[in-house]
Amino acid sequence: MNAAGRADSGGPAVDTAGGADSGRSSAETAAGAGSGGPSAETAGGVSYERLKAYEGRPAAVAGVGKDRVNEPMIRHWCEAMGDTNPAYAGPDAIAPPTMLQAWTMGGLSGHDGRSAAYDELFALLDGAGYTSVVATDCEQEYLRPLRPGDEITFDAVIESVSERKTTKLGTGHFVTTRMDVRADGELAGTHRFRILKYAPAARRATEARRAGEPKPGRPRPVINRDNAGFWEGVAQHRLLIQRCRACGTLRFPWLPGCNACGGQEWDAVEASGEGTVFSYVVMHHPPFPAFDPPYAVGLIELAEGVRIVSNVVGVPYDKVRIGMPVRLEFLRVDDEWELPVFRATFSATEDAAGSVAGGAV
Ligand SMILES: [Zn+2]
Repeated sequence: MNAAGRADSGGPAVDTAGGADSGRSSAETAAGAGSGGPSAETAGGVSYERLKAYEGRPAAVAGVGKDRVNEPMIRHWCEAMGDTNPAYAGPDAIAPPTMLQAWTMGGLSGHDGRSAAYDELFALLDGAGYTSVVATDCEQEYLRPLRPGDEITFDAVIESVSERKTTKLGTGHFVTTRMDVRADGELAGTHRFRILKYAPAARRATEARRAGEPKPGRPRPVINRDNAGFWEGVAQHRLLIQRCRACGTLRFPWLPGCNACGGQEWDAVEASGEGTVFSYVVMHHPPFPAFDPPYAVGLIELAEGVRIVSNVVGVPYDKVRIGMPVRLEFLRVDDEWELPVFRATFSATEDAAGSVAGGAV
């Protein structure tokens, strides 16, 4: 019941951060390359003292669960999680302890109990340039089981605001909120939730390259026993399609079994290389370091009838059209890899739509 004592003390949050939480904070401090000590100014000119003053202040007050603990929500949770523990069903059912937060959630319409202090802290951090947010971890403690019929109430406190930290995502402050969840007035559990409010460090790929850094290579394919044959074919400039030995159905991408009959025996046939654009998208965002947006990603229907996702080359991204005839070729993308791509087979000076309307369709 130590946790219950902590939670009920109502004292300054620095006293309530116990056990593993303190250890984590120390580790963060040690690792925080951007930390300049408690009195350091943050990038936006907000002092750490000013942020730290929010510790112990309420984040949400006198919240009430929108529904009592109830069997339908328990059943839905167990189905979604695949949890068949018999403790969660039947006349003496308890709620799965990990549902703790679910009973406090506001749903689409939200709760109106969020405190002014929480909004102020976020506004301060936003104003200091820490405009991004990512949830980093949560911890829960369970003090008594919840049962159908329990009425849930909760309060939340801003438990800690870390010194400024530099992470791979960027520089900012960790904010830990602790929610005390009560059932019919009795403390049933606590839910600690930590977020990082930060200024993003990520630079766009183009900026990195402007700075003289080499362009990162294409992502490596994951090659395993189920698809190794495909990549062996690519290395020999052959596009191989799996064929079920039992029923003859062609399949792509490569899979361990046949979708048509379940057969696991297969051989492979080489694609002729002829195909058409079945569908496509033009990628603008988000940018990936190895690629130069915008570019067209095509879903190519091969003459054999199966489809493959690939690049359409030899035509500007905004001239790719559904139905456009294409032919396989192999494109060297870096020192290690060649990949199957599809080249538009009409003249680049032709009007794409006209060519499709008059020819392939
Ligand atoms: Zn089959």
